[in-house]
Amino acid sequence: MPLIICPDCHKEISDKAPTCPHCGHPFTPQTIQGTAKTEGIFMQSLNCGCYFILAFVGFLILLGILSVTSHSK
Ligand SMILES: [Zn+2]
Repeated sequence: MPLIICPDCHKEISDKAPTCPHCGHPFTPQTIQGTAKTEGIFMQSLNCGCYFILAFVGFLILLGILSVTSHSK
């Protein structure tokens, strides 16, 4: 189990501890980074999905315009 140094009391504690057992200093930098990374990936996939839907709708509109113009001629 890897140990880290508490910035408050400078004692060795487990990196998986949400708070320092000696002074109670809260720190979960790895958890916060992991959550931010997960949210970033989720937002990226969401954007990709939005772009795909927009492209698909645009393609359908283009097909509709093309069919209308071909019928009117
Ligand atoms: Zn501490």
